[in-house]
Amino acid sequence: MKQFQSKRLSHLGSAIFSEMAQWKEEVRSRGVDVIDLGIGSPDRPPSERVIKAMEEAVRKPEVYGYPTSEGSPAFRQAVARWYQHRFQVALDPEKEIVALMGSQDGLSHLAMAVADPGDVAMVPDPGYPIYSASLVLAGVEPYFLPLREENGFLPKLDDIPEEIARRAKFILLNYPSNPLSAVATRPFFEELIAFGKKYDLLVVHDLAYSEMAFDGFRPMSILEIEGAKEIAVEFHSLSKSFNMAGCRIAFMVGQPDAVRALRILKSNIDYGVFLAVQEAGIAALEEDMEHS
Ligand SMILES: *Cc1c(COP(=O)(O)O)cnc(C)c1O
Repeated sequence: MKQFQSKRLSHLGSAIFSEMAQWKEEVRSRGVDVIDLGIGSPDRPPSERVIKAMEEAVRKPEVYGYPTSEGSPAFRQAVARWYQHRFQVALDPEKEIVALMGSQDGLSHLAMAVADPGDVAMVPDPGYPIYSASLVLAGVEPYFLPLREENGFLPKLDDIPEEIARRAKFILLNYPSNPLSAVATRPFFEELIAFGKKYDLLVVHDLAYSEMAFDGFRPMSILEIEGAKEIAVEFHSLSKSFNMAGCRIAFMVGQPDAVRALRILKSNIDYGVFLAVQEAGIAALEEDMEHS
């Protein structure tokens, strides 16, 4: 009998967030008051200004055509302005920015865009589920970097076998970390960029939580490190920062070859984020710049 489920799927492991949702429903149906530690869906709405921008945009007939998968020039320009304002990093909206239908979109497709079956990629353990799932989808061999408390939940780059570092196409990390909430310091990012340069690696940084810090701490962008843009890309999502998880919008910025590769792959797969959502995204970034 033919199986109408690919072997690839059986290697994906559990989709932990749907499993958690099921457990939650089971308990809730017994009348238990549940504290939800599952997927980090915002429990507040976006700002009034973001909702208004979306409201106005959905009235414009021209937003109902196909958008483009790389994002509108206006959205990419807003991203460039925001990176300059927030991190003092200059980005070229033409070559160094791609819009995403949520960073999940980019994280799930990046391995397919930049690596080939049999290549190696290094991902954190524990890490956000799509990091290793995307490698399964792309046929890329994972090398798990253990994140241990005694090392401040940072990987020990010196412990990575030379042969793995040489074979690897990219290394992916995420600080502030989900699920560990650990943060990385500038010296660590400097070490990471030097490591990437030594082994000719693409350094991928998921910065989903850059705006979720407190007590005066402001997470940094890896692109602030001198020369990082030559080898690093960074993901940012509007889901958590601006309570927009349901209107899918995010972006990847940095190393132009990797940006181009992801744009090419995505232009074959999707036709982009609804333009009204891109308008709302621009409003969110602009409002943030006015208030910080
Ligand atoms: C929530 C989350 C994402 C996915 O965000 P979307 O932009 O909504 O797809 C990616 N990375 C981490 C670490 C997250 O916590």
